[in-house]
Amino acid sequence: MAILKVARLGHPVLRHKAVALDPELVRDPGVQRFIDDMVETMREYDGAGLAANQVHTPVQIAVLEVHANSRYPDAPEIPLTVLINPVVTPLTEEMEEDWEGCLSVPDMRGRVPRYTSARLECLDREGNPVDIVVKDFFARVVQHETDHLHGILYVDRMRDLSTLTHLAEWNKYWLGVHEQDD
Ligand SMILES: [Zn+2]
Repeated sequence: MAILKVARLGHPVLRHKAVALDPELVRDPGVQRFIDDMVETMREYDGAGLAANQVHTPVQIAVLEVHANSRYPDAPEIPLTVLINPVVTPLTEEMEEDWEGCLSVPDMRGRVPRYTSARLECLDREGNPVDIVVKDFFARVVQHETDHLHGILYVDRMRDLSTLTHLAEWNKYWLGVHEQDD
């Protein structure tokens, strides 16, 4: 396995719409190795998720996982999940604002509105169809990663940039603020 290089804000690959992966290719050893490399890269950098175009490969694959993550100390756990060709359909008009960060926007945080409930349709890493309802933090991460695959970054989703903050200033001024929204 390998740690992959993560594209940062400004790299054009982050703005490319990823192409769907041919379902016939999901079990291809090269694709499986790439998914393993994405998981290893996400874990190496303590990300809650990683989309393929963040590692310079614009195909519709994303991985997510949260286990007692130091970058998201209050976040609920999410088991390792692989999204292939995800389609996210909001099931509510309700949106909740909360902090997000991104490995492609290093050392920054901002408050981002997301739908609190959505239908997720995709393939898993064995190529099996998945059709589930995701809620709250899981729904947030799924929306963040699926946005990546459409060339959208969390900063695009912020209602305004007044909460965009560097990590050190976030720890100093913002940590614990807005807890009532959690
Ligand atoms: Zn991201």
